[in-house]
Amino acid sequence: MVTPPTILRLAIPSPLRRYFDYLPPAGVPRQQLQPGIRLQVPFGRRTVVGILARVVSQSPITADKLRQAQYCLDKTPIIPPSLLQLLTWATEYYHHPPGEVFFSALPQHLRQGKPAAPPVYRRWFLSPKGRAAELATLNRAPRQQQLVELLRPYPEGLTSSQIKEQLGACQSSLRSLIAKGWVHSQEELLCKDKEPLKEQLRHQLNDDQKAAVTTLLAAQQQFQPFLLEGVTGSGKTEVYLQAIEKIITHNRQALVLIPEIGLTPQIVERFRRQLQAPIAVLHSALSDRERLAAWLAAYEGRAAVVIGTRSAIWTPLQHLGIIIIDEEHDPSFKQQEGFRYHARDLAIMRAYQAKIPVVLGSATPSLESLDNVKRRRYSLLRLSQRAGPAQTPRIQLIDVRSRPLEAGISPSMLAALKHHLGQGNQALLFLNRRGFAPTLICHECGFVVPCRRCDAYMTVHQRTDRLLCHHCGAEYPLPTSCPQCENPLLRPRGLGTEQVETGLKTFFPEVEIARIDRDTTRRVGTLNEMLEGVHSGKYRLLIGTQMLAKGHHYPNITLVGILDADQGLFGSDFRAGEHMAQLILQVMGRAGRGNKPGEVLIQTHHPGHPLLTALVDHGYRHVAEILLEERRQIGFPPLGYLVLLRARAVSPAAPMIFLEAARKLATEFNSQGITLLGPVPAPMERRAGRYRAQLLLQGNSRTHLQRLLAAWVPELEHLKAARKVQWSLDVDPVDL
Ligand code: ADP
Ligand code: ZN
Repeated sequence: MVTPPTILRLAIPSPLRRYFDYLPPAGVPRQQLQPGIRLQVPFGRRTVVGILARVVSQSPITADKLRQAQYCLDKTPIIPPSLLQLLTWATEYYHHPPGEVFFSALPQHLRQGKPAAPPVYRRWFLSPKGRAAELATLNRAPRQQQLVELLRPYPEGLTSSQIKEQLGACQSSLRSLIAKGWVHSQEELLCKDKEPLKEQLRHQLNDDQKAAVTTLLAAQQQFQPFLLEGVTGSGKTEVYLQAIEKIITHNRQALVLIPEIGLTPQIVERFRRQLQAPIAVLHSALSDRERLAAWLAAYEGRAAVVIGTRSAIWTPLQHLGIIIIDEEHDPSFKQQEGFRYHARDLAIMRAYQAKIPVVLGSATPSLESLDNVKRRRYSLLRLSQRAGPAQTPRIQLIDVRSRPLEAGISPSMLAALKHHLGQGNQALLFLNRRGFAPTLICHECGFVVPCRRCDAYMTVHQRTDRLLCHHCGAEYPLPTSCPQCENPLLRPRGLGTEQVETGLKTFFPEVEIARIDRDTTRRVGTLNEMLEGVHSGKYRLLIGTQMLAKGHHYPNITLVGILDADQGLFGSDFRAGEHMAQLILQVMGRAGRGNKPGEVLIQTHHPGHPLLTALVDHGYRHVAEILLEERRQIGFPPLGYLVLLRARAVSPAAPMIFLEAARKLATEFNSQGITLLGPVPAPMERRAGRYRAQLLLQGNSRTHLQRLLAAWVPELEHLKAARKVQWSLDVDPVDL
C-alpha cells in the first residue's frame, strides 16, 4: 500500500479567494505539520509567510507542479485550533480571501515571520554595591554619577528607553557601571501583568442583577447567547464583572469587547480594580511589540481577561469561558474596509464553536438582537432599575420651526442652560457634526465650495482657517473670495460643534467649555485631560459629537441638549432611524446619574415625526417595533439578508460596467428567491477621486444567499470587467 502524499494547504497573503497547496519542506517530521504553524514558501517570484490551514492528501494541482515549502517558522501552532476554526468559518461566510482573513488576525510581528516569543526587554537597576556607593567617588565621571542618581529611586529598575529619555545616550557609562558591579540588569517580559489594584469594590447586587448573574453562571458549559438590556447606569458592567469573577476562578478566560478603548479608559480601570486577575488590553494605540505580548499572554493563558475593541475577537484563547460584547449596538463592531466582518456576529459564532455563553449588553439593543430575542434564539436578561440612586430624566421636544437660532441654540434651550448652570450643575450639548459649518456659501452667487475629489462639500474649520473634506481628508486654506464670482462675501452655512462652542462663549463668558470631537482630541491624552476636567468640575459646559455618547459617567450633568435631531430622521441610510434613536438615548444616559434629576431637551423641525414622538412618549423599545415593522415590509435586516457588491474606479463608467456583468452572471446561477437591486451609483458617487457604484442582493433566506455567493463570487474574479475596477463584497452590510 502506498501512503497518500502529504499536501499543505496554506493561507497566503494574497487578494485571491483561495488557499495555496505546497509540498512539505524537506526533513520536517509529519507531526510538526500541525494546522496553525507558519511556513516560509515561494510565491510567484517572492518568498512569503503562509499559515497552514489544513493538511490534505489530494490537490487539484498535479504533483509535479506543486512547489515545496522552504521551512517551518514554528514548531507548534501560533493559531490554536479554536481560532483556526473561527477563521475558516469567517473566510467562507464573508467570501473573503483566506490569506487576508488569516493575516488580519495576526499581530504584525507574526505576519512578518518573526518568532512567536514574548518580546523581552531589559531593566537596569542598582546592585546593593551600587546602592551603597559614595557618589563623590564618581566626580570624574559625571555621566555615571547621573545614571546612579537616576536609578536610585527605582528599585525595580528602568528600561533602556526610559534611561535614554532622561539622559540621552549613555551606553558606555552604563557599561562602566556594570563592569564595576554597581548596576545589574534583568530581562523581563514586556507584558508583565500589572498588579491588580487591591481595593475591592464589589457591590451588593440588586434583584435584577442577581438574577442575571445566576442565569449566566448556570449556562457556563453550553452555547447560550444572552441579551442584557438595561439603561445606562442600570448596572450591566457590574453584572459582567461578577460573572467573570466566578468564571475565571475555574481557570477559564473571558473576552470582553467594547466599542472604543480611547473613549472609555474608566472601564479598563474598573476591571483592573475589581478583578484580582491579570488583564490584557488590546487596542489600536498599542505598539507592535505590545500587541504581540498581549496576544501571547492570552494564548499562553497568562491573561485571564482580554479587553479589546473589534479586532480583539481574533485573540487566541484556549480556555475561553465567556464572551461579552458591551454596547453591542455600536457601529464600530463592524469593520468597514478590507475584510468587512462584524465582531458581534463572530462572537456569537465563536461562542457556538466553544460551547460557552455570550452576553450582548446594551441600553439600546440593535434590531438584530431584539429580533433574535423574539425568535427565542437569545435569552433576555433585563435590568429594569438604575443601579445607583439616580432617577430617569425628563424628556421634551423643542419645536424650532421659525424660532431664532443662535449658534444652533433656541431660546428655550438657552433658558434651560442658564437655569441648570445657575444651579451649579453641568450641561451637555450634542451635535453630530464637527467643524464650524458644513459648507461655505457665496452670498452673492450662491456657489457652495465643493471638494475637488468627492461629491461632497468642504467643511469650514474656522480655528485653523481651513476648508476640510470629511470624506477624503482634502484640506485647503479658506478662500478669501468666491471661486466662481470672486465676490468676497463668503459665508459659512449650517452648524458644526466649533460654531456652537463660539456661540456658547458669548452666552456664558464666565463658564469653561469643553468641546469634545475628533478635532479637539486628536493628540493622545487630550481626551483624558478633558474628561478629567469634566469630572473635576473645571468644565461645566460640554459640546460634542457622538464621542460623547459612549460610556462616560458624568454625575453632575443635569441637562442634555440634542441640537439637531432631524439629522437622523431623513438620512438616506436604512439604519438612520435606528442609529438616531440609539444615539439620542446614549447621550441621554449621561444625564442625571448622580442624585440630581436630569432633563433632556431635543430640538427638531419635526416635533410630530412618529419616531421622535415614539421615543419621547414610549421609549426605545417602541421605536424599535416601528422600525422592525418597516424592515419587515422591505425585507431588510434583520427580517431579510443583504449582500452588497461594491466597485470603484478612476473611470466613471467602469464600476457600472463591471456590476452589470456581475448581475448578469448572478442570474445565470440559481438565484431563486434573491432580488438583485441595481447596479446604482453609490450615495456619494465620487469619493477621493474614485467613482463608486454598487449592486445589492436581497434575500429572505441566508442559506439561499450563501449558496449563490459560493458559486458567484469565485467567478467574479474572472470577469473581464473586473480588471478595470477595485471591487469588494460586503456580507451583512450595515449601511448602503
Ligand atoms: P451600566 O454598565 O449599565 O452603565 P454600571 O455597572 O456601570 O452600569 O453601574 C452604574 C453605577 O452604579 C456604577 O457607578 C456602579 O458602580 C454602580 N452600581 C452598579 N451596581 C450597583 C449595585 N448593585 N449597588 C450599588 N451601586 C451599583
Ligand atoms: Zn473629498
